[in-house]
Amino acid sequence: MLFSGFSNSLTELSLGLSGFAFLGLATLISSSLKSAKGLKLLWFGLFLLFFNALLYQQYNFLSFYGISFEVFVFFRLCLSVSATILFVAAASEILLYKPLSLNILYLSISSGLILSFYAVYISRSIEIQDNVETALPMIGLIYLFLAFISRPNLKKHIGEIFAAMSVLGLIEQTAVHLFLHFEVSVIFSVVLLFMLSSSYLLMLIEWQSSEKEELSASLQKMSKNMFNIIKSSAFPIIISKLKDDSIVFANQSASKLFELNLLELSRYHFKDLFVDAQNRKLLLEKLEHAKQVQDFEILVKSSIGQTPFWLIASANIIEYENELSLYIAFQDITERKQREKLLQNQADRDPLTSIYNRRYFENSVTQRIKQAYLENQNFAILMIDADHFKSINDKYGHKTGDKVLMELAHTIERSLRPEDVVARYGGEEFVVFLHNVSSDISLLVSERLRKSISQSVVYSDDNEPISWTVSIGIAPSGLSDSVPAMIKMADDAMYIAKQNGRNQVHLYDLTDIDKLELKTTSKELIHPVFKSEEEEISLLDGLETNHIIEE
Ligand code: GH3
Ligand code: MG
Ligand code: MG
Repeated sequence: MLFSGFSNSLTELSLGLSGFAFLGLATLISSSLKSAKGLKLLWFGLFLLFFNALLYQQYNFLSFYGISFEVFVFFRLCLSVSATILFVAAASEILLYKPLSLNILYLSISSGLILSFYAVYISRSIEIQDNVETALPMIGLIYLFLAFISRPNLKKHIGEIFAAMSVLGLIEQTAVHLFLHFEVSVIFSVVLLFMLSSSYLLMLIEWQSSEKEELSASLQKMSKNMFNIIKSSAFPIIISKLKDDSIVFANQSASKLFELNLLELSRYHFKDLFVDAQNRKLLLEKLEHAKQVQDFEILVKSSIGQTPFWLIASANIIEYENELSLYIAFQDITERKQREKLLQNQADRDPLTSIYNRRYFENSVTQRIKQAYLENQNFAILMIDADHFKSINDKYGHKTGDKVLMELAHTIERSLRPEDVVARYGGEEFVVFLHNVSSDISLLVSERLRKSISQSVVYSDDNEPISWTVSIGIAPSGLSDSVPAMIKMADDAMYIAKQNGRNQVHLYDLTDIDKLELKTTSKELIHPVFKSEEEEISLLDGLETNHIIEE
């Protein structure tokens, strides 16, 4: 008999203890497993049961210390309650992979205590005490059974099934032994312990190997799935070896994007795809620091003759076929770039003539004037206004008027250099920034422009040729660095050209202030921002400096 060993036979006790040592070892080994907590609970429960069994028939010894029989029985009942709760908790952890709910725990403890208290102190009936002690393992058994049948993958965990069966057997045996006072044979105890211990070990081995197998199988499955996802991804993806830059993988979308089949792509090096080698260097540098780069814009080319296009890339360093590789996923943003360009154009350009608008002119010319002062260059601003344009509209209609405006805009643009800026200022007025020109040259250029405009022709709806003229005002550099002020001066000069009979050019000079009886005189606008007096004199050289002195 196993659990009454202490008083009857030292052999039985040593057998029992060695079995528990074996169990303890199994629990220790299992401490790295995820169900280790459950095993510990089980082990601790068994220990309590064993201790309870040792106390059996020991009352005489304990009464020597003045412990009453009631306290003794109550204590043993409490041990049974605790052991039962530990078994239930262990079954939850091991068989269901979840901790015992606190509600069940509190309910079991309180009902166990109440029952024990009732059996020992209130009813004082031996029969009831026996029933309580029998009921406790029964509760444990029922819980174990329920946990057992509700767990998934029953077949896969034979070791656990063995362990659970052994626990059931052990509880059964203890219950029989303790409460019905049957003598259980030594052989049965040894067989039971052996079964219990070996099933633990079996369970541990199976857990470990099945966990490993499951892990590697699921990893394999995952990587296969990932590869399929990458292969069929709508995003073009390329993997190239870091060592020699050769492309080792490209998905369908990548081959479509680069207009190369997979075989052709595999003959490419990743660097071949970059329009700007610097761009690739920058990407690799970034990857050295961050291991992952997002939203990196690259201009790429592929097959010969293909126009370069913009891609946005996110790149990672990965291990591919045991080699460090660059994983790069693209998104074609050519359309986005074109849209951005279009939007920018729409914001900067006049819808009728497609030349720059006034806003663009003012912004860009502000920069150009700053630059011109820095580089000590002259420039000029022209204001060009169509003469009697209203009469063209009146005679041929607004639509033909528009045609004239378009032709006028293009004639101005065609007649000037790319470094000059031409814009529609409003209505039938155009402004021009002439880059790096003296006032003499600006006069010559304007005169030539006036002539070409006067020679241009458009046809009315009735096929009648229409020609027109313009008046041009020139504001030379040196009088102001403010764009609005310069434009005003050019406008004033243009006004004088109109006054002088139209179809002519007038270069603004300071005597114009007196000639013009304008509400806002240009005089107030003249405030050149020069760094020193010397510079001021040199820049005003050739202009009517005496007027400034007079003022
Ligand atoms: P001036 O020689 O004094 O400049 O005479 P003008 O008739 O050209 O001057 P005015 O300012 O009296 O008239 C300008 C005309 O330009 C009036 C307006 O209807 C016309 N105009 C302005 N914008 C447009 C446009 O986009 N399309 C057309 N067809 N006409 C326009
Ligand atoms: Mg006008
Ligand atoms: Mg006009």
